[in-house]
Amino acid sequence: MGLLDDLDRGLLDLIFPRDCAVTQLPLDQGPFLHLSPEGVAALPRITDPRCLTCGHPFDGWLEGERSCPHCVELHPAFQRAVCAFRAQGPVRQILHRIKYERSPYLADDLVAAATTDEPFRRHLAGSVLVPVPLHAEKAWSRGYNQSARIADGLAGLIPGCTAEALLEKHRPTESQTRLDRTRRLRNVAKAFRLKPGQAVDPRRRYVIIDDVLTTGATLHACAAVLRAAGATSVDAAALAHG
Ligand SMILES: [Zn+2]
Repeated sequence: MGLLDDLDRGLLDLIFPRDCAVTQLPLDQGPFLHLSPEGVAALPRITDPRCLTCGHPFDGWLEGERSCPHCVELHPAFQRAVCAFRAQGPVRQILHRIKYERSPYLADDLVAAATTDEPFRRHLAGSVLVPVPLHAEKAWSRGYNQSARIADGLAGLIPGCTAEALLEKHRPTESQTRLDRTRRLRNVAKAFRLKPGQAVDPRRRYVIIDDVLTTGATLHACAAVLRAAGATSVDAAALAHG
């Protein structure tokens, strides 16, 4: 899908010059295919201090706190999650286009912009990146898994990373969007498992990758599968928090 999609873009670009996904202005040559320098600068980034568990920005909260109210009751199976952006404004719009408007190629630019963030890059370096899987029916109807595209993109840009799709979603779940935290946890519990024939290596560090971290319930469920399979070091990362 990735190659075909990129070819499609290439053909379209000849006919319709690309606009920046943020400013909507025509794009000159630059390091990004769909983002202008102004567009990249307008992406709301997360900076320190942030929650050491879920990566939520500590806006004006007490220093020295380790976890935020968003994840204090989560007890996640992952050790630490880091997110590059806030899921607000242009980032929220781009993520929506990636997921629901058949624009997976936009993930590549968001990934490239995320990897210019030093803490995000450091969090991932040298790890096995494991994308959150989609249920087969969802993958079929969407045509791609945005988390897999993100994990592949990150693995290509960060030293020592590989992307390995170790997990599968064997039970379809209700959309998490309208559920509270408890319902989200119940909704995704036991939805994931290791793909047949896959195993984890307890000497390696795994980072579960998703597009957005909201309550952390999905990343927690995926991390729990890797831990149950013997992984000793499991973290999480998402492009955005919100
Ligand atoms: Zn938190």
